Amino acid sequence: MALHDIIQQLEFFRDIGIESIHLGAGERVIPRLPASVPVAAPEVPSAVAHIPAPDTLDAIRSDIGDCQRCKLAPTRTTIVFGSGNPNAEIIFVGEAPGYEEDQQGLPFVGEAGRLLTKIIESTGIKREDTYICNILKCRPPNNRNPEPDEVIACSPFLKRQIAAIRPKIVCCLGKFAAQTMLQSGAPISRLRGEFHDIDGIRVIATFHPAYLLRSPEKKREVWEDMKQIRAELFRLRF
Ligand code: URA
Repeated sequence: MALHDIIQQLEFFRDIGIESIHLGAGERVIPRLPASVPVAAPEVPSAVAHIPAPDTLDAIRSDIGDCQRCKLAPTRTTIVFGSGNPNAEIIFVGEAPGYEEDQQGLPFVGEAGRLLTKIIESTGIKREDTYICNILKCRPPNNRNPEPDEVIACSPFLKRQIAAIRPKIVCCLGKFAAQTMLQSGAPISRLRGEFHDIDGIRVIATFHPAYLLRSPEKKREVWEDMKQIRAELFRLRF
């Protein structure tokens, strides 16, 4: 029982003429309460008290800590958490950090990253207004493909990043990000170019910029995907 309730009950006893109460070990006089006894604030109803505080990028980064959850920990230089606008309308998700990213602790800062910046800015969106991260936060040795146990260890953090930012659109860069986000084994050529709905967020895939460096003829399709993103963003704003 809250203090406020006890005070009210004692006052009620006095009001009806009861001057003392029997507590088993003897008679106790009900103390005369000063007129100005501070009344405790009412308790917050439990339904409200149990709503968890919203997650934040800082809290997620701090939970990752000096991560040792998978076998990439001993070979990485830096954890590449992600960077950009915490209120971004669009998140770009790549595969995993490469050499430059591992050195600098930032995503997409190498040659593929410079091409990604051009792709983003071709739509009229500034790179710094987006958020960029990867499925894996640590570089696989020699840029090998991510392995399933690494994805299982790391993907809860990506999920939390997306939930914390609540973007309108997530754009998966390349086969690996697309297959992981869309839970599909289909090739990127089939997954790209159309929107999917995941938990109320529009998810689209396109070719990875590193692939475009090797196959520049695919840039036209990426441009088609970017035009779709721009149109969808515009539609979702209004
Ligand atoms: N390739 C990726 O998938 N991510 C990076 O951060 C850099 C290159």
